[in-house]
Amino acid sequence: MADARDAGVKAEDEVVDLCRELIAIDTSNYGDHSGPGERAAAEYVAEKLDEVGVEPAVYESHPGRSSVVARIPGADPGRAPLLIHGHLDVVPADAADWTHHPFAGELVDGCVWGRGAVDMKDMDAMVLAVLRQRLREGRTPPRDIVLAFLADEEAGGTWGAKWLVDQHPELFADCSEAISEVGGFSVTVAENRRLYLIETAEKGIAWMRLKARGTAGHGSMVNDDNAVTELADAVARLGRHRFPVQLTTTVRTFLEEVCAEFAIPFDEDDVEATVARLGTVAGMIGATLRHTVNPTVLNGGYKANVIPGTATAEVDGRFLPGLEDEFFAEVDRLLGPKVTREFIHHLPAVETEFEGGIVSAMSQALMAEDDGAKAVPYCLSGGTDAKSFQTLGIKNYGFAPLRLPPELNFSGMFHGVDERVPVDGLRFGVRVLDRFIDLS
Ligand SMILES: [Zn+2]
Repeated sequence: MADARDAGVKAEDEVVDLCRELIAIDTSNYGDHSGPGERAAAEYVAEKLDEVGVEPAVYESHPGRSSVVARIPGADPGRAPLLIHGHLDVVPADAADWTHHPFAGELVDGCVWGRGAVDMKDMDAMVLAVLRQRLREGRTPPRDIVLAFLADEEAGGTWGAKWLVDQHPELFADCSEAISEVGGFSVTVAENRRLYLIETAEKGIAWMRLKARGTAGHGSMVNDDNAVTELADAVARLGRHRFPVQLTTTVRTFLEEVCAEFAIPFDEDDVEATVARLGTVAGMIGATLRHTVNPTVLNGGYKANVIPGTATAEVDGRFLPGLEDEFFAEVDRLLGPKVTREFIHHLPAVETEFEGGIVSAMSQALMAEDDGAKAVPYCLSGGTDAKSFQTLGIKNYGFAPLRLPPELNFSGMFHGVDERVPVDGLRFGVRVLDRFIDLS
């Protein structure tokens, strides 16, 4: 008797072409509408779903800025659906810096190369490949799956996830949990031991514009109310400030698990020294130990001998889950009474517990394909579309499974040059996701 899994095209074979073809559709996001947009990629995805009998809906928030949503019925319609989402846009890439053209989707040395290979057309392709195979074979997931392929994640999701959550919340409102980027990839501890980092938390984002007002006047006069001086002082105070180390539940669990794996004592009184001993893992989590604020833009004045009435600056603030109020109180204290702030971009922090059925489904699926696997939660210092879906009460997990060779600097490839994903990693991810869906 033939195994149903042998029927037709296999996801493991198809995933590579899907990934390459998605990379070859340039969806560079410049943070405005000047890029090519996501429409061509959305139409590609919609066609791939349509081929296997799914009826996807394409939503356009602005001409060219398209997202695709589809619902696949599960065996138990009484259970809350699982949301699986991925973004279709990528950050721009300058071909001159790359070994292989960033929008060619070349297959070289066992890797698929190009912008989006890890962020995150790899996961888009894995999800498409797995669900296409399941649908071809008539394998029903245990509960409904809502699929979303989204525009504009790289600029905060204003024209993608956030727009859909605001304009069409009914598409996702009954989903209880979601999986997407940035997690599920392996970090090698020893030859036969790999940690798979599952994202269960994200720092919040506070891009702020600071403004100092003073008395305008001639540059030759005595002026004790100079906006440039006030602003420069406040910016320097913020930029030099070191927020204290504060361990959130996720970061604490992560450190305990990782220290145990590396047989390093976890020194609660000197967390940074402990982290420094963790090798490549250290870089990923350094920024999740504390709040940060980095000054990024300065503006003020227009002529050397004219004191302007105002001066402005922009800063990039990132705050820990659960500690937002405390963060802003400290920022205000550092700014002082003469400098005001307003948001350019303000998105919440995210934190979900690392427990329950969905977490054991991830863990079991990983261990079934890698007997040296251990899943651990971690906090991402950046942000993803999880922030938008959290506002609907959905629990978010970064789970885009990839088994990676130890020498590959995976986290360094996000938005970096020569972004590439191993073919073996894609095939592994497809097998894990397929098992995960059965267990979810
Ligand atoms: Zn991404």
